[in-house]
Parts: sequence; C-alpha cells; structure tokens
Amino acid sequence: MKHLLAVLLCVGATSVVLAKAPSLSDADIKTAEALRDQALQDKTAYTTLESLTTEIGQRLAGSPSDARGREWAVAQFKKLGFDKVYTEEVQFPVWERGIESCEVISPFPQNLAVAALGGSVGTPPEGIQASVMEFVDFAALSAAADNAAAGKIVFVSHRMTAAKDGAGYGPAVIARVQGASVAAKKGALAILIRSIGTDYQSRSPHTGVLQYDQTTVRIPAAALSNSDADLLARMLKRGGPVNVQLKLGAQTQSQTFVGANVIGEITGSKWPDKVVLIGGHLDSWDLGTGAIDDGAGVAITMAAGALIGQLPKAPKRTVRVVAFANEEQGVYGGKAYAAAHQKQANQHLVAAESDFGADKIWRFDTAFGPNALPLVDSFMRVLAPLGIERGANDAGGGADVSPMRAFGMPTVELQQDGTHYFDIHHTENDTFDKVDPAALAQNVAAYAAFAFLAAQVDGELGPPPAPPTGR
Ligand SMILES: [Zn+2]
Repeated sequence: MKHLLAVLLCVGATSVVLAKAPSLSDADIKTAEALRDQALQDKTAYTTLESLTTEIGQRLAGSPSDARGREWAVAQFKKLGFDKVYTEEVQFPVWERGIESCEVISPFPQNLAVAALGGSVGTPPEGIQASVMEFVDFAALSAAADNAAAGKIVFVSHRMTAAKDGAGYGPAVIARVQGASVAAKKGALAILIRSIGTDYQSRSPHTGVLQYDQTTVRIPAAALSNSDADLLARMLKRGGPVNVQLKLGAQTQSQTFVGANVIGEITGSKWPDKVVLIGGHLDSWDLGTGAIDDGAGVAITMAAGALIGQLPKAPKRTVRVVAFANEEQGVYGGKAYAAAHQKQANQHLVAAESDFGADKIWRFDTAFGPNALPLVDSFMRVLAPLGIERGANDAGGGADVSPMRAFGMPTVELQQDGTHYFDIHHTENDTFDKVDPAALAQNVAAYAAFAFLAAQVDGELGPPPAPPTGR
C-alpha cells in the first residue's frame, strides 16, 4: 500500500507529481570513491578466500565440512570487525555422493570420467548395464515417444556455449535439472548427460543439482566430462550398440540436517533497523574446494563489509553480509532467510548476491522503482571508473536474494564476466589458484562502494519491477 503512494498521478492535470526522489550527497560520493580506491589495494578478500579454501576446503551441504565452514564464517566475521555476528537456522536433507564409475563394456571397453548429479539416487551395488541411446538435446528427449528409451541408458549430448553473461547456461542446464525424470518417462534405466560446462581441454565432469518429479520413478543420473561425452558420441557414430555399466553409490539420508545462514553486520548509525544486504553462499559442491562457487562471493562481500566497518563513522543503514547455507541443492538458505524476514522486506533498502565467480564486474543491473532510477547515475559515478557499465532495470539479484525480491525488496546485480566461469564450475578444478587477486579486488571495490552508497541513500529505491521469469 505504501508503494502505491510513492507516485501520485494528478489525473486531469498536465503535471505529474512525484514523491521526493531518493538522493545521495557529494560527501557520500567522495567517501565511496575513497572506499573503492582503498579496496583496489586491499588483500582482505584474497586472504579470506585463501583461508576458506585451505582450512575448510569443499563444503558440500550437510557434510562435516559444511559445519566447519559455518564455524569458520562466524570466526572470520568477528576477526574482520563486524560488530554483530549471528546464525539463523536452515534445514535441509543431506545428499551423499558415494562411489561412482562409468565403464564402456562393449564394443570398446574403457572407463569414462563421470560425476553423479546432486540429489541423484544410486544404482544397485552391481550397477546398471544397458545400451546407450543418444539424444542431441533436452528438446529431442522430451519429444520422444513414451517408452522410446525402454531399458536403455539415455545420453544427452548437447554442448553448452560460453558467454560473458552466462546466457548459454539456461538452455543447457535444463537437461541436468529435468533430464532424469523426462528420461524415466521414456522408460530409461539411467541418464548420462554431457557436462554443463564450457571446458574443452579437461576431463573433469561437472556436477550440479537435479530435480525429480514427485510422480515419476527416480533413476540414477550422472554427468560425463566433455571429453568423454565426445568419446561416447564417437563410439555411437560407428553405428552398433554401445553398452555401458554405470555404478553410483549416491543416496539421500533419511534425517534432516540443521545448518545455518551466517550473518555479520556493521550496525547503522542513523537507521540501524534498515538494512543493505550483500552476500554469497557458503556451501559448495564436493569435487573442488568451492573457490569460485562461491567462496569468492563470500570473501568479496565479507571484505566489502569489513572495509565499510573501518570507516571513521558507521554508515546510516546497517550493512548486513549473509553467507547463505545450501544454495546449490535448492536455495535452502535464501528461502529460510525470506521465511524469517518476509515481514521486514520493506526494511531492506536493496540486496545483491555475488555468485558468478571471481572475474571482473562489467555491468551494474538494478531493479529499482521509477522514482529511484535517476539515482543510478550517482552509483555509476563511482562504479564506471572500475570499467563497469550501466545495465537494465531487470536485476534478479541472485538466487539467494530472489525469494525476498518476490516480496518487493529492490535488488541489484554487479555482473561478473562469466566467459570462463563454466570452464571449472562444479568441477574438481574449482580451486583457489584460479582466482586473480586483482580481479577479486575490483569486485570488492564495487561491492564496498555500492553497499556504502546504498546505506547512505536518503529515501527508498523501490518498488522494483515484477521479478524476471525463466531464470
Ligand atoms: Zn553458486
């Protein structure tokens, strides 16, 4: 209701009377510029990420490392000077990977590099042996007749394309998310997909979550490395049947795991109950050490908050940094946050999640109300010197903040260059050595400047446009 009053249209008159537009002072801009320049020289994010990936490593949700990661995050927030550090409970089921192997039995016996998809059921201990039936993409699988793949192992061979904005991911990832249930409807015993990744010179499979239909039989699902998807496709091209044996020890535990979002705050000096939210997700897949997905996002936003906390005077609003639990297996942390804070949606001025790697930010997308759009120019004064261009007003904000976005919270996205993100995403190669310290510092500079400016805004940034669909 409050939102409806923000813009008053004088029907029948020529003038349009707007509520007072939100504003920033020149002094705020100057402070943000200084923060930005300081952040470019600051090593906090890099040392934080080094600590997380070295002392904790992979953080598969619900694993002992997940719990250790949470303790690490609490200690790190305190070490970095956040004045309020706490956790909020998040519950989710625990999936375990177990053993995994994929072997061509005939006509050309050899092993294929494979990784179970997150949430997959396992095979019987002796494995599933069947001939392979190839579909060129998810659409072809979907279009097949019922029972077209009866008794087969389905193989979806579609290759994802690389793009700066990650545009190739959506069309490709549907095979991972929905492929198992669609293949089951066609009678398949199991599904193998080509990895959802853009690497061409590594034999590392890409894991990632799947979703089973409630009503369809659950079949085992795994990803072949891009190299081995090519290999299998070459065998199939020769015309005869290709028989494969797949063994997966994956399972979901019967009891619920109690994890937590870990939160650190720099308490606001003027409006402590009003919040600017930034964050990343603390969990990762288990194959690498979760450096770019999403240790980087946690490190970037922790470092940005820490720099703001070192200012002589705290910002007007509270800067809240959230290390979300279990994003990978179903955005459990983001959903729990929204369930706990839905009533305070209008206390959140704006939110942004960093979850697209560690390469440089190149675009600033917003989801502001019309009244706040002119203020984007003020943010751009500070962000443009970092090589960041202005994007559209359709930002989703990131997976973990999207549930709050649905409750009317404005969001932004500081878009990272994703050209190489999917080369190592969800693989054993997601490790600290891939992170460029200068690019990481550029991220911190953008987040620190953005979060500080947002915390100083006199006025509101909403209501945002309707959330984007299909992401
Ligand atoms: Zn992620």
